[in-house]
Amino acid sequence: MGERTVAQEALFYGFSIDRHVPANHLLRSIDRFVDLSGLRAHLRPFYSEIGRPSIDPELMIRMLIVGYCFGIRSERRLCEEVHLNLAYRWFCGLGLEGDVPDHSTFSKNRHGRFRDSDLLRELFETTVRRCIEEGLVGGEGFAVDASLIKADANKQRSTEGSETVDWEAMAETSRSVQEYLDTLDDAAWGAASETKPKFISRSDPAAQWTGAMKGHAFFAYTTNYLIDLDNAVIVDVEASRAIRQAEVGAARTMIERAQDIFGLYLDRLAADTAYGSAEMLGWLVQERGIEPHVPVFDKSERRDGTFERADFAYDHERDLYTCPGGKELRSRQVAYKNERPLVDEDGMVRYRASKLDCDACALKPQCCPNAPARKIPRSIHEGAHNMAHDIAKDRVPGSGVSGIHSHR
Ligand code: SF4
Repeated sequence: MGERTVAQEALFYGFSIDRHVPANHLLRSIDRFVDLSGLRAHLRPFYSEIGRPSIDPELMIRMLIVGYCFGIRSERRLCEEVHLNLAYRWFCGLGLEGDVPDHSTFSKNRHGRFRDSDLLRELFETTVRRCIEEGLVGGEGFAVDASLIKADANKQRSTEGSETVDWEAMAETSRSVQEYLDTLDDAAWGAASETKPKFISRSDPAAQWTGAMKGHAFFAYTTNYLIDLDNAVIVDVEASRAIRQAEVGAARTMIERAQDIFGLYLDRLAADTAYGSAEMLGWLVQERGIEPHVPVFDKSERRDGTFERADFAYDHERDLYTCPGGKELRSRQVAYKNERPLVDEDGMVRYRASKLDCDACALKPQCCPNAPARKIPRSIHEGAHNMAHDIAKDRVPGSGVSGIHSHR
């Protein structure tokens, strides 16, 4: 039976933590690539020369990597796990005896130094740069998407969207309200949207009341991602309000930034219908030279049997349509007393047939039975829309991305 085992505190141990971390442990594979050498230099201006020494920022970032890799979302739990787990201790460089920081250190730094120095952005960009150097980023086909992040805002402490609130007064005591006011006119934050939310959170007014998940509505933000499709490397990320305009604005910001920072010139962009507005397609094609792989709907279809827009032929050179009766529709047929703008606020130009032509036309009952003459609206971004439409028709089954491979 042997002697009963009695736990005894030894005075000295000969122990190598490195020997106890298996060769195939995930953290070993990660450790080979983690290089946080630039971290201290980046943060130096944000630390004081005097006072008690602070917690090593590299230790905190390594702990956050552990939390991310092993799905430990609570920082309190993360501290306990790192304290007890040998492999985590080894990865964080704590040895057997090293002290694990208190969990409150994370939130203090996140709201303080990390935020002021934009440290997490710096780390993110360093990582993407490394992926580019290692050849993991193809730099041609990209995708953009958004996902909802539940905000830490309570419906009980919200107000109806139609109620008047003195935000200026509230901003004096609340940082989140001040930040909300600072970004209120920022188009990328959805300033252009006229949608009135049903509820507004008093503690975090930038959070959006959304029912987008089909279940119960809640306050949320959006994280937007720009992803290189070769190896699914996220090359940029941007937080925004959870409304479509803001998400489209964030997509533009990311596309511009990926070019400015990393020199990534996108050839193709895959996205869902939310990004298929005529304006966004026009921006992609005309301003950035990017092929849009975005499903678009043709709203010009008619169900009453009259001629559809597709029955009218557009002549690019002369900028006019020719109708099935062989007549021309131009954008300026009528001389108005009060001159109207050619392009309306939605970016549409109207091409009109002459009333004289239509009155005398045998095809009128099939064309414009209830109007004096036929009109064809055309978006100034029509070319981009048509391009997206043609690419979507070309969709390669099973690729998950409309036509992305066929256009290589
Ligand atoms: S009704 Fe007018 S627009 Fe239509 S086919 Fe005849 S001439 Fe052309």
